[in-house]
Amino acid sequence: MTEYDFDLFVLGAGSGGVRASRMSASHGARVAVAEERYLGGTCVNVGCIPKKLLVYASHFAEDFEDAAGFGWSVGERSFDWARLIENKDREIARLNTVYARLLDDAGVKRLEGRARVVDPHTVELGGRTYTAANLLVATGGWPTLPEIPGIELAISSNEAFHLKELPGRVIVAGGGYIAVEFAGIFQGLGARTTQLYRGELFLRGFDDDVRRTLAEEMRKKGVDLRFEAMITRIDKHGGALRARLADGSDIEADQILFATGRAPNVAGIGLVEAGVALDASGAVVVDAYSRTSVPSIWAIGDVTNRLNLTPVAIHEAMALAATLFANHPTKPDHSDVPTAVFSQPAIGTVGLTESAARQRFGAIDVYRTSFRPLRHTLTGRDEKTVMKLVVDRASQRVVGAHMVGPEAGEIIQGIAIAVKMGATKAQFDSTVGIHPTSAEEFVTMRVPVASS
Ligand SMILES: Cc1cc2nc3c(=O)[nH]c(=O)nc-3n(C[C@H](O)[C@H](O)[C@H](O)COP(=O)(O)OP(=O)(O)OC[C@H]3O[C@@H](n4cnc5c(N)ncnc54)[C@H](O)[C@@H]3O)c2cc1C
Repeated sequence: MTEYDFDLFVLGAGSGGVRASRMSASHGARVAVAEERYLGGTCVNVGCIPKKLLVYASHFAEDFEDAAGFGWSVGERSFDWARLIENKDREIARLNTVYARLLDDAGVKRLEGRARVVDPHTVELGGRTYTAANLLVATGGWPTLPEIPGIELAISSNEAFHLKELPGRVIVAGGGYIAVEFAGIFQGLGARTTQLYRGELFLRGFDDDVRRTLAEEMRKKGVDLRFEAMITRIDKHGGALRARLADGSDIEADQILFATGRAPNVAGIGLVEAGVALDASGAVVVDAYSRTSVPSIWAIGDVTNRLNLTPVAIHEAMALAATLFANHPTKPDHSDVPTAVFSQPAIGTVGLTESAARQRFGAIDVYRTSFRPLRHTLTGRDEKTVMKLVVDRASQRVVGAHMVGPEAGEIIQGIAIAVKMGATKAQFDSTVGIHPTSAEEFVTMRVPVASS
């Protein structure tokens, strides 16, 4: 029998790779993990965590304003971007060391550098080769920018986290969750913010009520939101940048952030040469157990482009470790995955949108409520919260729950348990609300606003 150096060699120590390494080691496997850039991957370094810290920072502007309605006088305010970034970087550096310790404590061999697959059981890193019974590709994704003249003057989300100063005027191009989050961050921090999206309405794939509500609320906050708008070139103009739009108009800005897409990290790491099949978008093709077209090579997380979220990458990692080393073949479950958008106001969602449910089930009932949260009765802020339940008429199961409003992610996480368990509308109704909260509306919506 061949003796390999390791039972599992993991390429990439991001959300998926770290968890797969630790869990596999805890099942007794000999594991090595290679990381070329930063421990913890995208989420910890240039994704979820720093993003949410910036969202918190930007929300203070409104909180200071709102305080007046509750009798507070807030003195002169000023904001120091450099201090925020420094504090954020310190926290991220701490998290990097936590990840290193977690891997070390689990007995995982950490290797620094870019790993490349040589053959189905061999990886090369820094001029050395390592062999393993199984290889795991967990290399994540990377921002893609369109090929337009002057694109080198623009930034991606990666650079947005490390700007030297807060730009006075920002253009955010894109209509996905990362774009709306950054538009909210910059607007909240005081930058004059324009968001451009080439389609009719941003956040494709989210419920239409959610998409429309967020657009309205962002406009109320002052974001210059333009749909069916696209940048065709960027030029330097004095000390600033000038974006030319497809309709021939120009917008000036100090920074232009493209959040228009991400691509799987597969270039130059030997996958195709080793026989690993990729799909048209470059994502690694895997079966229900995360196995690639090469039996000894597995892939999880964003590089497989299934559902590009940290908890999903972690879930896939846990399933894979159980499959490989706990004698318990486990398929990751991608159904009813809840998710949040840390826009302002926030979005939380689980299950099917109204239109997807209508397509799947035919007859559905839709419950919707829109109200001004209690807090804003005193602040006077004109911000509404929208909540929505989508119910399959035949089974009476709640198949979708959607919210736009403060703490939407926190609220939907709990609702997601009920949806995942197949709770019916009657079971929602029989749950006593917590008063006074916004969340209680999810158990008090009695009359459908639409039935079909
Ligand atoms: C701005 C932004 C905000 C986000 N916000 C959220 C959020 O709020 N919630 C959420 O759930 N998700 C969020 N995400 C998505 C989340 O970050 C990803 O889904 C998650 O990080 C995927 O984990 P992964 O393990 O697949 O890849 P990653 O975390 O990207 O890790 C891959 C790692 O592999 C390394 N690597 C790549 N190639 C090699 C190689 N050849 N050798 C060695 N190392 C290599 C990379 O350096 C990287 O560290 C966000 C993403 C972005 C960009």
